Amino acid sequence: MTIKDYQKQVDKWARQFNPPYWPVYEQLAHLTEELGELAREINHEFGVKKKKAGERENTIGAELADMLFTICCIANNLEIDLDEEFRKHMTEKEYGRDANRFKQT
Ligand SMILES: [Mg+2]
Repeated sequence: MTIKDYQKQVDKWARQFNPPYWPVYEQLAHLTEELGELAREINHEFGVKKKKAGERENTIGAELADMLFTICCIANNLEIDLDEEFRKHMTEKEYGRDANRFKQT
């Protein structure tokens, strides 16, 4: 699946609601919540702060998926083609601007 496929899947799901998308500031707040949940999972897995007894099982992967879903919602709401934006990112930044920035193997 491409990112465009993810965006289409999210849009099909969202269009069952009226309105299909939250206002972008609320979407941003939700993305920030999901980032916090990702940080919590990483902290539990790699840090000294372990989960409390009875705390909900979750994974880093699940939180990344939550963030990807929310990013698709924001992009759809603003009619942004993430495939195109990601292609530009890789071409212009990773393979362009930063091509020699990091030590290579
Ligand atoms: Mg989450």
